[in-house]
Amino acid sequence: MLKWTFLLSWLGLSTVCADAAPIQKTCAKRFSDQVVIVTGASKGIGRCIATLFAQEGANVVLVGRDEVQLNVVQNDIIEKRGRAICVKADVSNPADMNGMVDAALSKYGRIDVLCHNAGIFPEARLENMTLAEWREVIDVNLTGTFLAVKACIPAMKAQGRGKIVITSSISGPQTAWPGHSHYTASKAGIAGFVRTAAVELAKYKINVNAVEPGNIMTEGLEGTGAENIANMTRAIPWGRLGTPEDVAYGILFLSSNESDYITGQSLIIDGGQTLPESHFADY
Ligand code: NAP
Repeated sequence: MLKWTFLLSWLGLSTVCADAAPIQKTCAKRFSDQVVIVTGASKGIGRCIATLFAQEGANVVLVGRDEVQLNVVQNDIIEKRGRAICVKADVSNPADMNGMVDAALSKYGRIDVLCHNAGIFPEARLENMTLAEWREVIDVNLTGTFLAVKACIPAMKAQGRGKIVITSSISGPQTAWPGHSHYTASKAGIAGFVRTAAVELAKYKINVNAVEPGNIMTEGLEGTGAENIANMTRAIPWGRLGTPEDVAYGILFLSSNESDYITGQSLIIDGGQTLPESHFADY
C-alpha cells in the first residue's frame, strides 16, 4: 500500500480514490430497499417523484384519492421492474393518514422517507372567496401536512432515522400569487411548520425539509390556462418552466444520506424566478 501511495503521489494523484469503495458499490441504487411514501402520487410532480424513487430501488407507497390513476402509476412502475403499492387516502383525513402508515408498515415493515407532496391550488380572488373554499385549501395543504408528518413520527422515531420532504411552493414563502391567498397562506404556513418540526424531531434523527418549486409544467398547472403559462415563462430567467424531474431530483437529494446534516430548510427550485428585482429587467 505504501508503495502505491508513493507512486500515486509521485504521479501527482491523490490516494483518496485508491482507498475509496469499489465503483460497483458506490453506483448501487441510492434507495435500494428503502420504503418511501409519496402523497399526491397519482399525477404531476408526485408521479415523477414516485417513479424516480422506484428507479433508485425503493419500495414506493403511492398515495392519493384517485385509485384508478394510482393503479396506472403502479403498473407503470412495475413494468419498469420497480416495486409499488397503492393506498387510497385523503391527506386531510386523520384516519386515512394513519391508514397510510399502517399499510406501509404491514407491507414493508418500515418507513424511511415521507415525501408529502399532495396539494391543491384552486383560484378565487379574496373578495369572492368563500369560507368553504378557504378551509378546503388549508385542510388539504396545511392540515394535510401536519397529519401526514405526525402519522409517520412513531415509526421513524423507533427506527432512529427518517427523512421528511414536503413539497411547498415559492408562492407564499417567497412570492404573492393573486387569486390564491388561501394557497399562499397554506404554503407559508408550511415554512414555519418545517422549521419547528425539524427542531423537535432532530433528537430522533428525523430530517424535515421542504422544496419550494416555481412554475412546474404539470396537469394541475396546465389547468390554469395558456395565457397564464406564457406569462409565467416570461418571468423565468432560465427561459422555461420547470419539469417535475427538476423538482423530484431536489427531493431525492433531501431524502438521501448526502443531506443528513440538512434540516429545517427549504430548497427553492425555480430557474431563478424569484431572483430579479424587477420583471422589466433585461434578462
Ligand atoms: P397536480 O398535478 O394537480 O397533482 C396533485 C396531486 O395531489 C395529485 O396526485 C392528487 O391526487 C393529489 N391530491 C390532491 N388533493 C389530495 C387530497 N386531499 N388527498 C390526497 N391526495 C391529494 O399538482 P402538481 O402540480 O403535481 O402539484 C404537486 C405539489 O406541488 C402540490 O403540493 C403543489 O402545491 C406543489 N407545487 C406545484 C407547482 C406547479 O407549478 N405545478 C408549483 C409549486 C408547488 P388525487 O387527485 O388522486 O387525490
